[in-house]
Amino acid sequence: MGLAMERVVQSYARRIETPAFIVFEDLLRRNLEVLDEVQNQSGAKILLAQKCFSMFHFYPLIEKYLWGTASSGLNESLLAEEFMPLREKHVFSPAYRADEIEKISEICDHVIFNSFEQIEKFGSIVRSKNHSIGLRLNPEHSTQTHAIYDPCNPQSRFGVRKSRFDSETRSEILNSIEGFHMHTLCEQNSDALEETVEIFEEKFLQDSKKFPNLKWLNLGGGHLITRENYDRSRLINLIRRLRSQYKLEIYLEPGEAIAIDSGFLISTILEIQEPINGISNVILDTSAACHMPDVLEMPYRPEILETSEQKKFPYRFTGGTCLAGDVIGEYEIDRELREGDRIIFRDMAIYSMVKTNTFNGINLPRIIAIDSNGKISYEKIFGYDDFKSRL
Ligand SMILES: *Cc1c(COP(=O)(O)O)cnc(C)c1O
Repeated sequence: MGLAMERVVQSYARRIETPAFIVFEDLLRRNLEVLDEVQNQSGAKILLAQKCFSMFHFYPLIEKYLWGTASSGLNESLLAEEFMPLREKHVFSPAYRADEIEKISEICDHVIFNSFEQIEKFGSIVRSKNHSIGLRLNPEHSTQTHAIYDPCNPQSRFGVRKSRFDSETRSEILNSIEGFHMHTLCEQNSDALEETVEIFEEKFLQDSKKFPNLKWLNLGGGHLITRENYDRSRLINLIRRLRSQYKLEIYLEPGEAIAIDSGFLISTILEIQEPINGISNVILDTSAACHMPDVLEMPYRPEILETSEQKKFPYRFTGGTCLAGDVIGEYEIDRELREGDRIIFRDMAIYSMVKTNTFNGINLPRIIAIDSNGKISYEKIFGYDDFKSRL
């Protein structure tokens, strides 16, 4: 993001009420154009993983570029049906609910199951709608160290492992499967995908004659395709090879890559305390616990928008809840902060808006969209009723 854009964000930050998520159409479109180029060059079909970014205001824009949506269950499927009705709808859940699978199978054209047993239970419902059945597989190959984000961790509940895959022989189950799915990556480059795909081929694809109706392969999410250092040509070559070698449609379902760096969380300083060992606690009108739980869960320290490199004054940004650990991080700022100043957290469109909560009765940040003319095209304001309605 260039300096001019930073100025633009800062000028909105001064004008709007906080806390607020603010998402820019132009920044989102820049990602979508890159993804579209990857689709064109590789022949892959890219889906929006809604669990990462579900700001349906932008679905009509996303619909112009991507092939469809990936849902985690009924509610996300309903959102896709309402706001991106004309595109493909894929769904994966580790175990479907008996009272939801009928509706899910009606909405979703691709239903991915986590086990042969789930297909045995619910596959006939999907087939009765003439929709496609997929099976999630687990290549048992970790390429990352964040255990909570690693679906290949040794105790993982995700996907059928090689030993179980080999033992399944019922032809009605094998014949019903039209797609394979794997999701093992998190914020990774195409070398990690390539390495995992090789193992996936060895374990599963070379044996795919057992599955006479196989048509597609979904390589999940975790591909940071729109990040600057991502090796897109490696990804494109890999997809081309898979398509020609196995004659399968290839799907990718990234979340982060779609909305990375397109939104911000704007907050206001409520109070600055006396320094403790040289560093002041700054209490903001936003909270890690309520508004950016990944900061505590991952954990990581979000970047803030401050232009100068000359860092001098140390501060610890904290939330306004009663949780002692509601600390966003320690920062060095080139100016002395004052009450009422705005603090802008970067890259907050993803995995934050979808994860907010009202712990302590803290209000939810408003949600603002800025269109390509610089106008506020959507603004959602939350209050007491939203807090109350969840209790
Ligand atoms: C989380 C998830 C995604 C999206 O992952 P990103 O890291 O946001 O790209 C895609 N598919 C499945 C099955 C997931 O669980």
